[in-house]
Amino acid sequence: MGKKRVAVVTGSTSGIGLGIAWKLARDGYDIVLNGLGDKGDIENLRSDIEKETEVAVTFEDADLANPIEIESMITRVLKFHGSVDILVNNAGIQFVSAVEDFPTEQWNRVIDINLNAAFHTTRLVTPSMKKNGFGRIVNIASAHGLVASPFKSAYVAAKHGIVGFTKSVALELAEFGVTCNAICPGWVETPLVQTQVDALAIEKKMSKEAVIKNFMLERQPTRKFVQIEEIASLTSFLVSESARSITGSSYSIDGGWTAH
Ligand code: NAD
Repeated sequence: MGKKRVAVVTGSTSGIGLGIAWKLARDGYDIVLNGLGDKGDIENLRSDIEKETEVAVTFEDADLANPIEIESMITRVLKFHGSVDILVNNAGIQFVSAVEDFPTEQWNRVIDINLNAAFHTTRLVTPSMKKNGFGRIVNIASAHGLVASPFKSAYVAAKHGIVGFTKSVALELAEFGVTCNAICPGWVETPLVQTQVDALAIEKKMSKEAVIKNFMLERQPTRKFVQIEEIASLTSFLVSESARSITGSSYSIDGGWTAH
């Protein structure tokens, strides 16, 4: 049997990224996890995935706000595994504020982690993908990569940016067997969203259930959260051989949100 393909999933210690890492491990790819969190908890996640799926799972603690740490991470992975065949740019954060009050530091952090980090990982893995004549890049954007909401200017700018970045990279790499696509989820119940539910419940003096019903799922015609497994399954397809002609596309999984 040949060498297993290697998938780097950024921001995979929680939420959507962790679900994608599990799915790709079950598909038989070696996995590089990355993200923040308690070292002991992360080691438990790493060894759980490795034990259940029998692929090699390593962890990289690079802070994606820091290009030097991103460069060391990718250099180490390339040295250890010999290639990065699949790159899932998933790490992301949110910050909610009126534009006139938006703290510059928070603006920069949202753009650094949600957009600039994907530029750095992509530029660093591209030479190896081109050399191998195979590569799959999947960027986890958002419904906010296609439409906007108030008070999320940095996030909406970063997510629209990554949808554009996806198209440009796809055009550059198309003839080398490397595809680049974006996935645009609607609301998914993860820690990133739970923080917003908690904040809105206090601000609006409402229960969390009422916030979810009235401020979140009213956007999603299905009136249901998107499940992490749905995003993981689409990622699994986009990185497969069968998806070789799909590149430069953005896929909505948003319960109809952006059909409005
Ligand atoms: P989450 O908070 O559960 O997970 C975010 C992950 O990113 C975590 O592993 C975290 O450790 C990592 N991360 C954050 N800052 C980092 C940094 N500086 N360096 C390295 N890792 C860092 O959030 P999630 O909801 O799973 O979000 C994952 C992606 O999906 C994000 O890009 C988000 O914008 C996008 N998204 C989420 C939703 C949603 O409703 N949850 C909807 C659309 C898009």
